[in-house]
Amino acid sequence: MKKGTIVKVSGPLVVAEGMRDANMFDVVRVSDSHLIGEIIEMHGDKASIQVYEETSGLGPGEEVISTGMPMSVELGPGLISTIYDGIQRPLEKMYEASGTNIRKGIEVQSLDREKTWKFEPRKTIGEEVEAGDVIGVVQETPIVECKIMVPFGIKGVVKEIFIGSFTVEETVCVITDEKGKDIPVSMMQKWPVRKERPYKRKQSPDSLLTTGQRVVDTFFPITKGGVAAIPGPFGSGKTVTQHQLAKWADADIVVYIGCGERGNEMTDVLREFPELKDPRTGESLMQRTVLIANTSDMPVAAREASIYTGITIAEYFRDMGYSVALMADSTSRWAEALREMSGRLEEMPGEEGYPAYLGSRLAQFYERAGCVVSLGNEERVGTLTAIGAVSPPGGDTSEPVSQATLRIVKVFWGLDAALAYKRHFPAINWLTSYSLYQDKVDEWADINVHPDFSEHRIEAMMLLQTEAELQEIVQLVGVDSLSHSDRMILETSRSVREDFLHQNSFHEVDTYASLHKQYRMLKLILDFYHKGQEAIKAGVMIQKITKLDVIERIGRAKYVEESNVDKTYDDIEREIEAQINDLMKKGADEL
Ligand code: ADP
Repeated sequence: MKKGTIVKVSGPLVVAEGMRDANMFDVVRVSDSHLIGEIIEMHGDKASIQVYEETSGLGPGEEVISTGMPMSVELGPGLISTIYDGIQRPLEKMYEASGTNIRKGIEVQSLDREKTWKFEPRKTIGEEVEAGDVIGVVQETPIVECKIMVPFGIKGVVKEIFIGSFTVEETVCVITDEKGKDIPVSMMQKWPVRKERPYKRKQSPDSLLTTGQRVVDTFFPITKGGVAAIPGPFGSGKTVTQHQLAKWADADIVVYIGCGERGNEMTDVLREFPELKDPRTGESLMQRTVLIANTSDMPVAAREASIYTGITIAEYFRDMGYSVALMADSTSRWAEALREMSGRLEEMPGEEGYPAYLGSRLAQFYERAGCVVSLGNEERVGTLTAIGAVSPPGGDTSEPVSQATLRIVKVFWGLDAALAYKRHFPAINWLTSYSLYQDKVDEWADINVHPDFSEHRIEAMMLLQTEAELQEIVQLVGVDSLSHSDRMILETSRSVREDFLHQNSFHEVDTYASLHKQYRMLKLILDFYHKGQEAIKAGVMIQKITKLDVIERIGRAKYVEESNVDKTYDDIEREIEAQINDLMKKGADEL
């Protein structure tokens, strides 16, 4: 009998003895209220248990029962558009069962057991199948087709396969395995969250994940299957940026983990997402989203669970061959939970009290992202992009969580308090941020967007970097000491910053820019720059160029709707040409 007795309670940590038969990472039920916990350390017959629910009122002598199973998630139709807590309990069902004050130890099924789904078989009797093969599909939401895959470890021949409506537990297929045993397969499978779901092989992630955010797509792009971090101090726009990515990234599936952030931020997501329309399909964004809500008012330990629950669900959709984007807001809150548990376990503390394994835990999480070829005979390629927000105290990224994260991720979007203060949003610092996917994306964008895409990006970035150098001179000796050509650089980099980089998330049109629009917008700015330099060479004064009224049209170009971009931008280009030619002509006349 895997039954033990509590000997100590310390916040979310419970120590129980008499647990010799239990295993590390087993799920346990604690006390009469059946609180859910997980064994995170074993010493002889003593188990240290991380409890995912409020432990107040718990005391020594109470009973602990191991379920003998590792913490797992249920995977199958019904995940999409559901809002779960950290241990995959659907919030709505919990509210139904116990009102807004969620009762402790409440048991609700992750996937609805009564609901039926229309199963369309994709295999026929006699076909050979192995793990990962799609035996049938379910139209889960208007835009997501859930692929029912042969669970891991099963290989054989289809003996029976059914068509019609079934619950997630009912058998939809019977497979006779190599030993001649008949195995019933349902639409639901379980997977232990701490274990990476298997795949055939990983590929290098090369294609761009479009986000519609100009500073991201053009300057610091992330690929499908890539890993990125957004560190930034409080109020610098981490949450807004994550929401923007969740809303607009061209992913088939979005998994959003709200981890330890304030409850009202999560409420924003819950309220906003269902109302938002997917620009590609016109359907509600919730039709492709799974939300995991583990807010700061929920128990600390459940933060860790929410991270694993989220990434396992994301892997499941990746295995179907989808492009999945996962956002975790914020990984710092998770790390703080690790620190708290580690302290209670009396482990040897590492830097700033974080456990020594902080780096490896973060790495394990981000390593589950990638571009993979799925198991099974039909080489499906799926991607899992992981984007983690980091909230370093005081915005100082020299602290352990930021540092450990930066060693792992390939894209760094450094949010900057000074920019946020100036209301330059998104406050992503263009001088400190980077993307190691840049070369790959350049190749991709030059083929898929425009042959000049990367050339323009490089030129614009050079201008921004030169601006930073010129600004130092300006501060010392004033702007008048600069040549007209340098002042043209200042004028252009101002335009890159204010017209291109600055993007208002709350503006109906500006909130999203297609790659084509991004390309054309940067081209407008650079056209003006080249033409302006030409005029300066011909003797035109910079003061005349900066007074041209086409500058205002360039500034407003971002508010032009996608469908009018080509027409309007062509027009602005002609006007740039005309107005500067006019200056040059006048200059020549004056001579
Ligand atoms: P954090 O999560 O880093 O504490 P938030 O994401 O909540 O910060 O952002 C703080 C505020 O900054 C937002 O309420 C919003 O007013 C503003 N903001 C951030 N990003 C943008 C943006 N891209 N466009 C417009 N406003 C923004």
